[in-house]
Amino acid sequence: MASVDQGSIEETIGALEAFGSREFHLESSRQAAEYLLGAFGDIGVQAEMQYFMVGDTTVSNVIGTIEGGDEDAGMYLFGAHYDSENRDVYDLSTAENITAPGADDDASGVAAVLEMARILADADFPGTVKFVMFGAEEMGYDNSGGCRGSEYFAAAETAQGRTYSGTAVLDMIGYRAGEVNKVSLIVNADEQALTESMRDAAGVFGIDLEMDLFVRPDATYSDHASFWAEGIPSMLVIEELDSGMFPVNPMYHTSYDTLDTLSLGQVVAVTEALLGGLLLLEEGGDDSGWVLVFGAALMAAVIVSVALFIYVRRRRGRTGDDR
Ligand SMILES: [Zn+2]
Repeated sequence: MASVDQGSIEETIGALEAFGSREFHLESSRQAAEYLLGAFGDIGVQAEMQYFMVGDTTVSNVIGTIEGGDEDAGMYLFGAHYDSENRDVYDLSTAENITAPGADDDASGVAAVLEMARILADADFPGTVKFVMFGAEEMGYDNSGGCRGSEYFAAAETAQGRTYSGTAVLDMIGYRAGEVNKVSLIVNADEQALTESMRDAAGVFGIDLEMDLFVRPDATYSDHASFWAEGIPSMLVIEELDSGMFPVNPMYHTSYDTLDTLSLGQVVAVTEALLGGLLLLEEGGDDSGWVLVFGAALMAAVIVSVALFIYVRRRRGRTGDDR
């Protein structure tokens, strides 16, 4: 049984950052999508492109699926956007020349989703789980985008009669503003089961993560809102917010949103809490053996990842995680 690996998360964020910019009009964005399709293949998860148009630009979502063996178990989804944006870009030529590394926004979320897929690929989870990397979440230099990939995806799922027991969108989970790992969970009404379960998991598995719950149906600035619009339960998982419900990360949508400004330990903790939440949700099912095996592996993973985190911090002797 695999456990949450900080090195895998770091590798994914670094690889996406290396594209320079993933502005959805650019060839580099298409290459990033191809990279993610290959990354699903590398971990043995069946994946496909879902193409859609934004104006004259063909954009894709990258969809990984792990089919569950139990038809009575729920269907779940974890999503994040792979495109990026720089607030100083106003046309195609500047989009090509001004970088938008998007390590936090949202390579951090993509890395966590890919890591969950890697672990669940070996976990024999009873339900079906989809892992979707969305395109064109950002507005783009001509403001033609904005949650376009998730809108296309959610509408297509509804049209095909697919229902979800729980979905989570991860958008900016790597910046740590204070001394502790902390994220915000935004829901539109009552907590969905997955939200409650994720919060429970921190206590059950001893995961080092504070979670603030916000019931804010007006907070529609990321891909979770596309699910809400289709009546699909969803939450946004996002790092610490200011009073206006926007991220406090000062590097957001600039050339400075890079891997070295992130807390990988926080990304690991969010990944563990979501996996733990998924585990607890299916705990009532028949397959208690699965729960025991996976639960033991997860607790071991927490211990290992905390030890690794401390080791890496000491070795690097840096304080970047504490800002
Ligand atoms: Zn974002």
